[in-house]
Amino acid sequence: MTAQATYEFKAEIKQLLDILVHSLYTEREIFLRELVSNASDALDKLRIVTATSESADADNGAESATQDEAPLEIRIEADKDAKTLTISDNGIGMTEAELVENIGTIAHSGSSSFLKALKESGNSSADGIIGRFGVGFYSVYMVAQSVSITTRSYRADAQPVEWISDGQGAYTIRELTGDDAAAATRGTKIVISLKDDYVAEFTEQDDLRQVIRKHSNFIGFPILVGGERANTVPALWREPKFQITKEQYKEFYSFLTYDHDEPLDTLHLSVDAPVQFNALCFIPKKSKDFMGFDREDWGLDLYVRRVLIQRQNKDLIPQHLMFVRGVVDTEDLPLNISRETLQDNLLIRKINTTLAKQVLSHLAKMAEDKDAYAEFWREHSRVFKAGYMDFANREAFAGLLRFNSSSCETAEELVSFDEYISRAKLDQKKIYFAFGPSREALRLNPHLEIFRKKGVEVLYLFEPIDEFVMDALRKHKDFDLTPAEVAKPEDLASLPDVDTDSPEAAETAPEQPALDALFERFKTILGDGVTEVRASARLTGSPCCLVNPDGQTTSSMDKIMRHMSHDTSVPKKVMELNPKHEIIRNLASLNQADPADPFVEQAARQLFESALLLEGYLTDPHALVGRVQDLLAKSSGWYTKAK
Ligand code: ADP
Repeated sequence: MTAQATYEFKAEIKQLLDILVHSLYTEREIFLRELVSNASDALDKLRIVTATSESADADNGAESATQDEAPLEIRIEADKDAKTLTISDNGIGMTEAELVENIGTIAHSGSSSFLKALKESGNSSADGIIGRFGVGFYSVYMVAQSVSITTRSYRADAQPVEWISDGQGAYTIRELTGDDAAAATRGTKIVISLKDDYVAEFTEQDDLRQVIRKHSNFIGFPILVGGERANTVPALWREPKFQITKEQYKEFYSFLTYDHDEPLDTLHLSVDAPVQFNALCFIPKKSKDFMGFDREDWGLDLYVRRVLIQRQNKDLIPQHLMFVRGVVDTEDLPLNISRETLQDNLLIRKINTTLAKQVLSHLAKMAEDKDAYAEFWREHSRVFKAGYMDFANREAFAGLLRFNSSSCETAEELVSFDEYISRAKLDQKKIYFAFGPSREALRLNPHLEIFRKKGVEVLYLFEPIDEFVMDALRKHKDFDLTPAEVAKPEDLASLPDVDTDSPEAAETAPEQPALDALFERFKTILGDGVTEVRASARLTGSPCCLVNPDGQTTSSMDKIMRHMSHDTSVPKKVMELNPKHEIIRNLASLNQADPADPFVEQAARQLFESALLLEGYLTDPHALVGRVQDLLAKSSGWYTKAK
C-alpha cells in the first residue's frame, strides 16, 4: 500500500490542541521533555522485548530478531535555516496501526488526566496545569507549525510509515517505499517545523542542551544534541553514597518532583536482604494536598536494573508514608514484568515492608533534632498518623508521635510519649489525653481540673484521627493511654495537690442529707436526660460536668460514632456536681429550705444545658438563652437594689 490516507483527530485531541496552541504558557520548552521521555520509553520497551526474546531465544537456540549492535540513544538535531528541530530514537518504533492508535486517540495517561484536571479546575487557559502533567506528544504544537513522524517498528516484517499533521484537526499517513523506506531504520524520527517565533529559541545547541539538563537529566539513555551528550548525570540511586554530593541529590530531587526547594531529608538505601533493592527517597519540605487535588499523586518509581517499569507505584510504600518521593530499583524482578503481576507481588510486598521499617528508623534519627522533626511533623503528621493501622511497626510508630500538652508553654511545642513518661508522677501508670478544638478550650475543660490540681500532664488532641490513634494503640510501654475525661478520680486522689489556688479548695461541702436531697431534686427535674446525679471528685473550679456512664467512651469519640451511624439523639450521661462550688452549696441550702423552690429548678436546667453545650451536644440553645436572660433580669434587679 502506497496510498496516503487522511484521518481526523478525535474530538478530545482537537480540544487539547486548541488549548495548547492558544495558552499563554511560558514554559513551552517542556514539549522537549515530553518527546524525550517518549523516546526514552520507546528505548526501554525495546530493551524489554530484546531481553525477553533473548531469553526465549536462548531457550530454543534461535537467533534474536531484535539484535542490533547500534547503541540505544536519542538524537536531537537543529537546523536554523530549515527552521526544523529533529528528535530521533532507535527504540521500539510503531507500526501503522500503532501510530493511528497512539497518536490519533487519547487513551493515554498524561493527556487524558491533563484534560480531566483542566475540567475540574475550571481553568480554560491551562497555564498552571501544563507543567504538572505530561501533556504528551501534542505539546509539540505549542511551538510547531507542522510535524512529521517517521517510524519503523522493531518487528522484522514492519514497514516504515510517515505521519504528518499541522495540528489543525487532521493528519495524513503513508507507507514509505523505495529509498525512503530503505533510509528509515528501526525507531522513530520526529521532525518539527518550528513556528517563526520559536526558531531562535529552539535551534541553538547550547540552549537545547540546557533544556535537556533541566528536564531530562536522568534519562537512562544518552541524549545527543548535535552529536554531543547533554545528559551526564547517572542513575544516582545505583551510585555509592560517598560519591554523591548534596547538590547532586538536590538536582535529582527537583528533577523527580519539580520542587525547586531542597528536600527536608534524603534516604539513600542499598538493601540486600530479604530482597535486593536500591532506593533513593526524599521527604519534601512541604506536604502536598493529598486530600484534594493531588490525591493520586504519590508512590515510588519502580526500576528494574535502571529500566523504568512503572511510575508512582503505590505498592512499594505504605499509604501513611505517601509523602516519601523517590525511586526503587531492584535486580530481583524480571524486566518484562507486567503491571498486573506487579500488583500482588511478594517481592514488592517485601520491599514495602523493608522500606517502611527503614523510613521509620530514619525518622527516629531525625527526631533527635527537635527542630528538624518539628518541621517534619508540621507538614506530614496528618498523613503519617494513619500509620496507627500498621500493627507490625506499632512500637516504632508510637515513638514517633508528637502532641501538644498541658505542660507546654506554647501551641507549637511538641511532646513524645517518652517525654511524657519521663515526667510522670510516681505510680502514675497512665498517659492521659484529652480532645478539644484549641488549647484555650482544653484549659477551660472541667474534666481537666483535677489534672491541674494534681499537676498531672495531659496530652492535647486536636484532630479526630488522634483519637483513633490512641484507641488503636491503647498502650505505650506499660502505660495505658487513657482519656482524661474517663479517668477515675481515685487514680489521682493519692497524689498531693500542686494547685491549691482554687476558691473551692478552702470550702466545705454541705451536709450529706442536704446534698442527697439536691441530687434527687436534680434527677427529678432532669428526668431521662441523665442516668444519675452524683458528687464529683474531679472538679475544682466548675460546678458540674457530664460523664459517660460506661466510663470508657469519650464524648468526642462518641460523636464520631454517632455521626457515622447518623444518630442525632443526645446521649444520656451521669451528671456530676461539685459539692464545694458556691452554686451547689447555695442550691443545697435553698432546696433544704423549700424543696419546691422554682429557682433550684431553673438552675438545674441551666447547669445541665451549659454542660451539654460544653460537650457539644446542645442542639437548640433557645431555652438556655431565654433562661440566662431571665436570670440576668432578676439578678440585675437585685443588684440595682443592693447598690
Ligand atoms: P503518553 O506518553 O502519555 O502515553 P503521548 O501522546 O506522548 O502520550 O504518546 C502516545 C503514545 O505514542 C505513547 O504511549 C507511545 O505508545 C507512542 N509513542 C510516542 N512517541 C513514541 C516514540 N518515540 N516511539 C514509539 N512510540 C511512541
